[in-house]
Amino acid sequence: MKLYNTLTRKVEEFIPNDGNNVKMYTCGPTVYHDAHIGNLRCYIFEDVLEKTLNYLGYHVTRCMNITDVGHLSGDSDTGEDKMVKSAIEQKKSVLEIADYYTDLFKKDCQKLNIKWPAIVSKATDNIAEYIKIIQNLLDKDLAYQSGGNVYFDTSKLTNYYVLTNHNEEDIQVGVRESVEEDKNKKNKTDFVLWFTKSKFEDQALKWDSPWGLGYPGWHIECSGISIKYLGEYLDIHCGGIDNIFPHHTNEIAQSEGYLNHKWCNYWCHSEHLNDLTGKMSKSKGQTLTISLLESQGIKPLVYRLFCLSSHYRKTLVYTEEAINQAKKQYEKLLRKVKSIKKDDSVIQNDLFLKYQEEYKESIGNDLNTSSALTVLYDVLKDDNLNNNTKLSLIEDFDKVLSLDLLKEEDIADSLKEYIMEKINLRKQAKENKNYDVADEIRDELLKEGIKLIDTKEGTTYEIIDK
Ligand code: AMP
Ligand code: ZN
Repeated sequence: MKLYNTLTRKVEEFIPNDGNNVKMYTCGPTVYHDAHIGNLRCYIFEDVLEKTLNYLGYHVTRCMNITDVGHLSGDSDTGEDKMVKSAIEQKKSVLEIADYYTDLFKKDCQKLNIKWPAIVSKATDNIAEYIKIIQNLLDKDLAYQSGGNVYFDTSKLTNYYVLTNHNEEDIQVGVRESVEEDKNKKNKTDFVLWFTKSKFEDQALKWDSPWGLGYPGWHIECSGISIKYLGEYLDIHCGGIDNIFPHHTNEIAQSEGYLNHKWCNYWCHSEHLNDLTGKMSKSKGQTLTISLLESQGIKPLVYRLFCLSSHYRKTLVYTEEAINQAKKQYEKLLRKVKSIKKDDSVIQNDLFLKYQEEYKESIGNDLNTSSALTVLYDVLKDDNLNNNTKLSLIEDFDKVLSLDLLKEEDIADSLKEYIMEKINLRKQAKENKNYDVADEIRDELLKEGIKLIDTKEGTTYEIIDK
C-alpha cells in the first residue's frame, strides 16, 4: 500500500507499527451545523482509506472524535465557540445541538455508505484525559498559565512546523477566520490547552480542573481521545487539508510533548471541495447538504461516485453540470451491472485474480479511485469474462467503492427512473410528430434489454434477456 504522507511530503510504502494491525484516527465533525458535502468528501476519503486497508488484508481500528466543545470560530483560539454560538442562535442547549447534528451526520454517513468508525467518542466525555495531559505538559514546562488560561509554549520545540515547513505568516492566509491577537500568549503560535477565561458569551459547559472552572481547547481533544483509545503509537491520522495548520501541527506538539516520542507515522489529508466561488464552507450562506441534493433528485451515492471519480489530493469543483454528469454515469453503471444475469457459469479463477490484482494496484496506489473505477469498467466490457466471474468481481470491488452496485432495490429504483424518463421523452416526441425520434428511443431501450409495450392506458415495459 502506497500513501502520500504530509509529514514527509512523499508517497511512501505504508508500514504499520504492529504487523497487520493499523491504528487510524480521523478528526470528527464539529456538530454545530449540518455537514456540507465538502466535509463529507473528507469522510468519504477516510472511509475509502479504511476499506482499502481492510481489502488489502490489514486489520484497522479506527477512532473518531465528535467535537462538542472548544472549537472556536477561528482555528487559532479566536472568536466564539461554534457550539455556543449555534445554541444561542437556535435557542437550544449546547448538548441538544450536539445530539441533533451528530445524529444528522450519522445519517449522512449511512446514506453515503461511510462505515461508522469502531470507536467514536465525544469531546465532552474525555475531560479527565485532557487534564492529565495538560498537567504533564505543565510539569515539563512545555505549557504555562496566563490570564486564566493554560497555553502550550511552542518556543520550547525545535521544530514546531513539522507538517508544513512554512513560517507562520505564510500559513495565516489559510486559516479560516480573521485572526485577533491574544495578549496572554508568550509567542504568537502558542495555543490554548485549557480555557477558564472566555472573551465571548459565557461557555455553557465547564468542568473543574486544577486551573479553575473551564473547558478544553479544540486541539487537545484529538490528542486526548486518540491516546486514550488507540494508545501511544498511531499509524495514520487523517483530516482535510485545512486541518494541517494549526490543528494537526498543535496535536503533534502536545502529543509528542506528553509522550516523549514520535506519535504518528503517516498524516493523510484530503483536498477541498470547492464551488465556483472557492472553498465550500459552513459559514458561506446556504450549505449544500446531502438532503438538499436528494431533494434535487441526486442520490447520495451519486455524490460518492462523483468524489471517487477524482483523486482525493486534487481539488474537486462542484457544479450542477458536474453532479448531473455523475448522476448519468451512476445510472449507466447500474444499468450495465443489472444486465449481467447470474447463470451457472463457473468462475474463471485466473481472470478473476488478474483483475483483482489490477484493482489492488490501483486502489493501493495512494487510493487511485478513478483508476480503480476504470478496472471496473474494463471488467464490465470484457467479453472473455463469463457472467458469474463479472458479478464476483463487481461484488469484490464494491467492498471498497461501496456504490451498492449489486443491491437489488437500488438497481430497480434507478432503472425505473431512467425508463420512465425515456418513456416521457418518447411520448413528447410522438406528440410533436417526431416519430423518428420516438422510434430511436424505443430501439435504444430495446438494445439495453428494455422492451416498451404500448397499451390503451399508456406505455409500460418489460426487462428482457438480450
Ligand atoms: P469541521 O466539522 O469544520 O471540523 O470539519 C470537518 C472536516 O471537514 C475537517 O476534516 C475539514 O478539514 C473538512 N472540510 C471542511 N471544509 C471542507 C471542504 N470544503 N472540502 C473538503 N473538506 C472540508
Ligand atoms: Zn482533530
